[in-house]
Amino acid sequence: MGDNRLTRRLSRRLLFTAGAGAIGVTVLGSCSSGPSTPSSSPQSAAPEPSAPAAGGAVAGDWRQVDMSYVSAYILVRGKEAAIVDLGTPGSDAAIAEGLKAAGSSWSAVKHIVLTHQHEDHVGGLAAVAPKVKATIYAGVMDLASIISEKPLKGVAEGDEVFGMRIIDTPGHTLGHISVYEPSTRILVAGDALRNAGGLVGSDPQYTTDESKANDTVRKLAAMDIMAVLPGHGGPVTVGAAKALKELAAGLPA
Ligand SMILES: [Zn+2]
Repeated sequence: MGDNRLTRRLSRRLLFTAGAGAIGVTVLGSCSSGPSTPSSSPQSAAPEPSAPAAGGAVAGDWRQVDMSYVSAYILVRGKEAAIVDLGTPGSDAAIAEGLKAAGSSWSAVKHIVLTHQHEDHVGGLAAVAPKVKATIYAGVMDLASIISEKPLKGVAEGDEVFGMRIIDTPGHTLGHISVYEPSTRILVAGDALRNAGGLVGSDPQYTTDESKANDTVRKLAAMDIMAVLPGHGGPVTVGAAKALKELAAGLPA
């Protein structure tokens, strides 16, 4: 099936942090000094709320598979696992390592959520699909643009997957979705948000509808969010709510 040499080369190249949650947290130092500095924020000594993480996880029970510039996220609960996004083609080796580090495996994966149609998030699908007996979900408006041998299930705002709530977050693409875990207030944001030395919105260069993308940031800022796990850049597990509100406040009306 796979070219072993290639697989080995990829595994070596891919920085994998699922077993070292500390890396994900370290990246975050910069997010409190984010892009905007509104004078209205009180400079109190109140500690920034931070999201707790289990061993090896970056927030809650979520593990990050950091494939140098794009991430997939794995959530293992009991004997079942869910994966959000699958990276570029060839990412399956890194995701397999992430599952292993979480004490899981492909056979446990019952849910795969694709946040949007772009290649760096769905590229791993062709290789991963034959390895799993999972329902594969994507936003209704992006379905037609995702090439898949297996049927995809369209989801939208309010749908539940594995105890997580689907949030419509259009703009980056029209069918872009994010995943929100109410029990931990963790948001897996795809490309609706990025961490680029601080929390920012969808990269304008790749955004289908900028006005919708801004509306999405405002919508997310109004939610109760403890941590943001973005597709690009490290997880924001400290001061995420504040960073989101500052980001939203700096957007054009
Ligand atoms: Zn992306």
